[in-house]
Amino acid sequence: MKRGLWFGTNWKMNMTPGLARQWTDTVTAYMQNMPSDHRLFVMPPYPLIPQLLRDTEGTGLIVGAQNCHWESRGPYTGEISPALLKEIGAHNVLLGHAERRKQFDETDEVIGRKVSAALHAGLGVVLCIGEGATLKGKQTETRQFLEQQLAVALRDIPSIQPERLVVAYEPVWAIGVGGQPPQAEEVADALSSIRQTINQMVDECVPIVYGGSVTLQNGRSLLTKTETDGLFIGRHALDPSTFIQIIETAVGERSEVE
Ligand code: PEP
Repeated sequence: MKRGLWFGTNWKMNMTPGLARQWTDTVTAYMQNMPSDHRLFVMPPYPLIPQLLRDTEGTGLIVGAQNCHWESRGPYTGEISPALLKEIGAHNVLLGHAERRKQFDETDEVIGRKVSAALHAGLGVVLCIGEGATLKGKQTETRQFLEQQLAVALRDIPSIQPERLVVAYEPVWAIGVGGQPPQAEEVADALSSIRQTINQMVDECVPIVYGGSVTLQNGRSLLTKTETDGLFIGRHALDPSTFIQIIETAVGERSEVE
């Protein structure tokens, strides 16, 4: 079994305080018997962050935000600064998600500013990168595209402390309802080229996780047939029991469910 695996989820604009409590109760109970070198992280909507931090204190669950601004204060109505996230105790922040790139016009440059600001504020960062459907299957172009996303996003970063940066490879063609379920062979090449690029840019060993239509059926093959350091799971992790089943099946602690 691979060691030191990362499993995370982004709740997007889902969940309620009550559902969040059920989720954290179930997942933190599971974490008591989980291998100690595995890391679990969750990105709830902003108002639920304090509740999750309170309810999961001391459990090791990493609780982060789904976005932040690049400035630490100022006239940015509706935005949240990395400094404030840090002050309320958030551990990390998700940046570069495909939905923010598409629906909120976030460019690589904007994401780069946010990555740098978040790391400077002392937050961890889960940085999403991934090519769109027009590049599906085109290896050379995909490599160049991913290299470019990484180069801009990581241009101004301070030296990375261990476990401060996680890169999530999320091909846009695989994400969400309507996304095409990925085959491990399709993602293996992209993951190894991301690994090569990151090794040239950063001294620290940066975990790279895969995200996009991860299910109970494909989690194990994605984990074992690629160089991924873990899985980033969206809609199939909203149910805490399914999230746990995906993790256990992927790492081989329970047999695959039909
Ligand atoms: C995502 O949108 O980042 C994601 C991984 O979603 P899903 O697992 O639902 O495809």
